Amino acid sequence: MPKMLFVFNPNSGKARIKYVLLDIIKILSRGGYDLTVYPTKAPRDGYKYVVSNGAAYDVIACSGGDGTLNETVDALLTMEPQDRPPIGYIPSGSTNDFANTLGIPKSMKDAARCIVKGTPHPCDVGDFNGRTFNYVAAFGAFTDVSYATPQDMKNVLGHQAYLIEAMKRVTDIRPIPLTIHVNGNIIRDEFIYGMISNTTSVGGMKNLIGTGVGLNDGLFELTFIRKPKNPIDLQQLLNGFMTQSMQDKTQVLSCKCSRVEIESPQEVEWVLDGEYGGKHTKMVIEVKRSAVRLITTQDI
Ligand SMILES: [Mg+2]
Repeated sequence: MPKMLFVFNPNSGKARIKYVLLDIIKILSRGGYDLTVYPTKAPRDGYKYVVSNGAAYDVIACSGGDGTLNETVDALLTMEPQDRPPIGYIPSGSTNDFANTLGIPKSMKDAARCIVKGTPHPCDVGDFNGRTFNYVAAFGAFTDVSYATPQDMKNVLGHQAYLIEAMKRVTDIRPIPLTIHVNGNIIRDEFIYGMISNTTSVGGMKNLIGTGVGLNDGLFELTFIRKPKNPIDLQQLLNGFMTQSMQDKTQVLSCKCSRVEIESPQEVEWVLDGEYGGKHTKMVIEVKRSAVRLITTQDI
């Protein structure tokens, strides 16, 4: 019987898993797996457990927020590529950008069924100054919006709440001077926001990134918004957010890349998969192609 390790964060997403844990265990077990269940006890506990024990399993299922998935992926990267078991993901957090991109259902029970029914698909992983991220590294004006918007407001207003928060911040944006080395070009300008992503959905906003996103194409999408130089620029920027199309080339630097080096004379605060990524003046971001396999029921 194939062996499955199920690692979950009991406190993630307001401890939502407590209502469905038994059902999830039944679904995974009846799916034909010899199941081991491991509740994490602290940050990085899941990482340590998977590093020590993960290679003995045929599948590693994990449940929690982006941080839990990140720890699982990070742990597998310590193994030789051929020894990395495929990952199943049951998201419990309130922001499920990456799960949406993977086509993983919102219902935790359905996500468990997706692991049993699905097949492993190779997926690229990002490396930011030696730290792993799964789908987005970002800095600047809007990076904390999805976390600063009160949950009640998000539930009622959804996407609108995000936009309202984002627009409130446009007026007190501090532009960041950057030198960007990408695809043989050197770009020097001031930016108010930037992200390097491998997802179709960020902050619940679809279509921000453009088309042709592939999760295992060895490329991440770079989307950097320049400082608005006058009120017309600013208005266009806001319109872009309202219509969810940010492809205006004068205000947005966008391209696909497998590696980018960025320098700034000032420290830049980054957010990696929704978690604080530290302050940096030199940043090297690289794609590790097809570094892990994620189980989904759709082609990615
Ligand atoms: Mg890609």
